[in-house]
Amino acid sequence: MSTKDFLEKDYYKVLGVPKDATEAEIKKAYRKLAREYHPDANKGDAKAEERFKEISEANDVLADPKRRKEYDDARALFGNGGFRPGPGGAGGGSFNFDLGDLFGGAQGGGGGAGTGGFGGGLGDVFGGLFNRGGTRTQPRRGQDIESEVSLNFTEAVDGATVPLRMSSSAACKACSGTGDKNGTPRVCPTCVGTGQVSHGSGGGFSITDPCPDCKGRGLIPENPCDVCHGSGRAKSSRTMQVRIPAGVSDGQRIRLRGKGAPGERGGPSGDLYVVVHVGTHPVFGRKDDNLTVTVPVTFPEAVLGGEIKVPTLGGPPVTLKLPPGTPNGRTMRARGKGAVRKDGTRGDLLVTVEVTVPKDLGDKAREALQTYREATADHDPRAELFQAAKGA
Ligand SMILES: [Zn+2]
Ligand SMILES: [Zn+2]
Repeated sequence: MSTKDFLEKDYYKVLGVPKDATEAEIKKAYRKLAREYHPDANKGDAKAEERFKEISEANDVLADPKRRKEYDDARALFGNGGFRPGPGGAGGGSFNFDLGDLFGGAQGGGGGAGTGGFGGGLGDVFGGLFNRGGTRTQPRRGQDIESEVSLNFTEAVDGATVPLRMSSSAACKACSGTGDKNGTPRVCPTCVGTGQVSHGSGGGFSITDPCPDCKGRGLIPENPCDVCHGSGRAKSSRTMQVRIPAGVSDGQRIRLRGKGAPGERGGPSGDLYVVVHVGTHPVFGRKDDNLTVTVPVTFPEAVLGGEIKVPTLGGPPVTLKLPPGTPNGRTMRARGKGAVRKDGTRGDLLVTVEVTVPKDLGDKAREALQTYREATADHDPRAELFQAAKGA
């Protein structure tokens, strides 16, 4: 997630909730939209996918009270995506609002590295908007990284540790991040080393952008580094073992705090978001914390009752008592044989009985059934149906 998104994007609008929406309202709106735009439901639809990303991003900020407050504060300070000249800017005077200094002061005053002042969140906003090149010395929070992982049905129920390979951008080792072969870059003539350029945008105030010639670094390599071609950045990839908690469901987005890109100058690491894809199982299904299974029973078992053996996921079978007169489709509960919950307890296994009809009958069975038919000939199972059909 780019950090200047905070000022450019209206997360409330994305989720279609008012600014004073409660956590429950945000959660509800997110769930509804996430279902509607989920990639699995909109295969190949790039627009839906884009929308799904926006929705997830908005939810990540608004569903987290701390981040929501940072977001609200940032927007309250600078208006909705634009910069408003304060009262001092009136009367035609030049309005020059140095956000970098403003923030630097606030953070410095707070004392602790990365934790004082406004904290990492706002630091990110300013860091992203105003790259102060060589003059920037504030700790900076690492970027958030998004990744995906596929689990089979059982792994999702029980939880699993999976390897996750990620690539991120770090300072080039060969040139120590200077971009220069000899480590002696020269000062950028365009921005004179500040890494930023200002230009008026009407209204009597100016906007500051990263310098286009040095990409905000303030320095230009004299002899570009062979490894990074002068960018000073290098792709590094690492594989880490990620613990996926038990009970995750398909499409769920897990946030692993501090597992994103490392921070700069002692800043905290970003977060890692993992989108989980869960495969299906030939026998079992999932319903929140419960597992589901359909078990065939014979007609005599349904009518007379009896004990039936039911398979469980990864455990020994359980025996269920079928009461006499169990109708087709009745669901019974095997307690504690479902998916693992957050608190470590398990949901239930919901067992739905399905009365089967035999295709082939032996002579003896056929005879018995004929006798049964004669014995129940005076019962018409459709009598009530026709009565009701006439009634209204
Ligand atoms: Zn420059
Ligand atoms: Zn290099």
